[in-house]
Amino acid sequence: MKIAITWDYELFFGERSGSVEQCMLEPTDRLLTLAGKYKIPFTFFPDAGCLIKFEEQAECHHEQIKHQIRSWDAKGHETGLHIHPHWEKSIWKEHAWIHDLSAYKLSDFSAEEASRIVERYASYMNSLLSQPMQSYRAGGWCAQPFAPVAEAMKKAGIRLDSSVFKGGKNTTNPYQYDFTATPSASHWKFTEDPAVLDSEGAFTEIPIASMDYSPMFFWKLFVLGRLNPGQHKPIGNGLPAKGGGSKKELLTRSHRLCVSADGYFSTQLNRALRKAQQANDPFLVVIGHPKALTQFGFKTLESFIAQHHRNHEFVTLSSVL
Ligand SMILES: [Zn+2]
Repeated sequence: MKIAITWDYELFFGERSGSVEQCMLEPTDRLLTLAGKYKIPFTFFPDAGCLIKFEEQAECHHEQIKHQIRSWDAKGHETGLHIHPHWEKSIWKEHAWIHDLSAYKLSDFSAEEASRIVERYASYMNSLLSQPMQSYRAGGWCAQPFAPVAEAMKKAGIRLDSSVFKGGKNTTNPYQYDFTATPSASHWKFTEDPAVLDSEGAFTEIPIASMDYSPMFFWKLFVLGRLNPGQHKPIGNGLPAKGGGSKKELLTRSHRLCVSADGYFSTQLNRALRKAQQANDPFLVVIGHPKALTQFGFKTLESFIAQHHRNHEFVTLSSVL
């Protein structure tokens, strides 16, 4: 089985954006050391709009960020295009970023504005890399509708998308995606909607793996966070945007979410791998965020990699096919 672990490299978008050191530089350094130890590649999706804004703020360590990206690029990790277009309206105030999430996704912009954002963000990212990017992941999974930016994506050299997770749906503001009717295949071609197969499509969807998480999982997650914050509190020091589902909901019904390397979610990686093997899936795509790593999660992730790096093949996203 091919396993691709992908990392969305970014700050937080809630009331506290968090520091560049704790959300990005430090946890990513640890991930790169881990990758080096087991000689496996990762795929990083740096938040391009954020990096462009960092250029204006000396406090945001943009030279260190660029150095980190160039250094993972030189080591053979893949970099993809990740777009959170709300950065167009973000402002720097009292040493922190204030986000206006009324324009959170590309579909909140006109087709022309959105296409220009794609073009600008992709060319900025490509200027840092040894090879142009091929893969895209929409910020907050909000890749629909794709048609208004399809042409700009093609021009930017994008041919793969990994924003979809089967069964996922969130229409709570500012999110908007519905992946409840995806093809049953492991991956598929598409043209206008990454969740709809079009055999003539120019793009290929490589979905993030997904599975159901029981209320018990979230009970454990919340209780451990309270009892042992040193192990279970994220290394990143920001607060997530609202709209990801309330605590009460998570504790009372099962949720279909991504297979994730974040914090306590990493305890479910072995279950996800078994499930993928039973289904004869050719690959397993895992999502994670350096900002959401925990001390506990880092250890669990390392055990997962140590256990499987010889009998499975860890690859970059564009190498799963
Ligand atoms: Zn993101």
